[in-house]
Amino acid sequence: MRSLDYDKLYIGGRWQEPSTNRRLSVISPHTEEPIGETPEAAPDDVDKAVTAARKAFDEGPWPRLSVGERMEKIEQLAALYMAETDAIADLITAEMGSPKSFSRLGQGAGALAQMHLNMATAKEFPWVERRPGLFGDVHLRRAPVGVVGAIVPWNVPQFLIMPKMIPALIAGCTVVVKPAPETPLDAMWLAEMLDEIDLPEGVVSIVPGGRETGEALVRHAGVDKISFTGSSATGRHIAALCGEQLKRVSLELGGKSAAIILDDADIANTVKHLKMASLMNNGQACVAQTRILVSENKHDEVVDALAEMMSRLQVGDPADDTTDVGPLVAQRQQSRVQGYIQAGLDEGARIVLGGKEKPYDRGWYVQPTLFTDATNDMKIAREEIFGPVLTVLKYSDEADAVRIANDTDYGLAGSVWTADVERGLEIAAEVRTGTYGINMYTLDTTAPFGGFKQSGIGREFGAEGLSEYVELQSTVSADKLPDLA
Ligand code: NAD
Repeated sequence: MRSLDYDKLYIGGRWQEPSTNRRLSVISPHTEEPIGETPEAAPDDVDKAVTAARKAFDEGPWPRLSVGERMEKIEQLAALYMAETDAIADLITAEMGSPKSFSRLGQGAGALAQMHLNMATAKEFPWVERRPGLFGDVHLRRAPVGVVGAIVPWNVPQFLIMPKMIPALIAGCTVVVKPAPETPLDAMWLAEMLDEIDLPEGVVSIVPGGRETGEALVRHAGVDKISFTGSSATGRHIAALCGEQLKRVSLELGGKSAAIILDDADIANTVKHLKMASLMNNGQACVAQTRILVSENKHDEVVDALAEMMSRLQVGDPADDTTDVGPLVAQRQQSRVQGYIQAGLDEGARIVLGGKEKPYDRGWYVQPTLFTDATNDMKIAREEIFGPVLTVLKYSDEADAVRIANDTDYGLAGSVWTADVERGLEIAAEVRTGTYGINMYTLDTTAPFGGFKQSGIGREFGAEGLSEYVELQSTVSADKLPDLA
């Protein structure tokens, strides 16, 4: 792995001196030792980045190139990225503790794939079309939305930058990316690659920082659209700020997804899949299936199988190939998750496995923990824990299972486990979530992804994801319009 110390910010497509000497130090969640540093972007740096993006959008060549010309640059970026994909995944593992067994695919390859998938979508996308109208044909054009501010969290940092930055760039937008303060190093590496492909001045900036940096971007009058992934609390605040300015906003927020295990499910297969679907990325995943819903009939069998699977998880150094569960991103997150485990106990749930004692003296580890004898009104069933903690809840019949699954503020993901796929689809239609799985749960990055209810507004991936970065312009004409090329 490279040693990573940056002293400049990537603003407007150039490495520039930061406006302050504030630094972000990245601490390894495994060793608790520093592994690298970048400058922290202050509001003045954000202002510079947005001003450059505004100028590039209003006057520069980028929005005026063809989609094909812009995609040539994305092709170049994808080629550079491909050579470094595993190394980027390893860097993310070092920054935030994602086990290598997950990060090689979910962090690195998953990010790279999105460049190619977005280009494939863009080739089929109806950038211009003609529709019969009241007064003759209407010329419908999908125009870039403008200057985009992309704000992402630390849990899958590159995987979340891509579905914002890539479709925005293809559409002709200019972009200011604000990575989380926990994971600025991988973002700076991306900046190095962007520098190599030589985009026109002002098209992309990368401004790492925390709340103050993000809020400067959200409040900036030069930004046309904010695309945010993060917690529902921050999303609500950002949406309110955007509302005041009538700024476009899309939000990918939290989740508290339910896995409904029907009585006819193959329990061994279900539990094998839940290892990933519920505990991926150390449980630090918005789509994690953390509420496990089971009938009285199958309760003990499911709990035993889950406990058996979880007791075998290798907890340790995330850089080790055999590790299943690494440390949490920060000491703050470790304490938060321990707090949830205590809350579960205080409210009367029973721990089958794990608990809040730290497995190691060093590193921000939490033991994989399984609760049962819980009810859906408990904190552990209502709030997003973002750690390796699962809660088993009993349902009385299938209608009750659907009721419990829907009894949440969130609506991001869910799954049903059954021998009857038709019944599975009927259950899916009853559950109010943006994505669903039958006998599996995974993201399909070609299909629209996003939340119902407080899990967000808008969609990422596929044509719907690209549509988030365009405005529709309808043109009528007194004269017959020329044929479309
Ligand atoms: P967070 O909301 O605290 O922070 C997310 C990002 O917003 C960070 O870059 C942060 O610096 C920035 N930020 C914080 N306050 C801000 C403000 N006032 N204005 C502008 N920017 C601000 O979230 P987190 O704890 O870092 O990330 C975990 C959350 O992200 C979880 O809730 C998880 O479910 C969610 N998430 C959602 C998805 C999805 O696609 N739906 C994917 C991954 C993570």
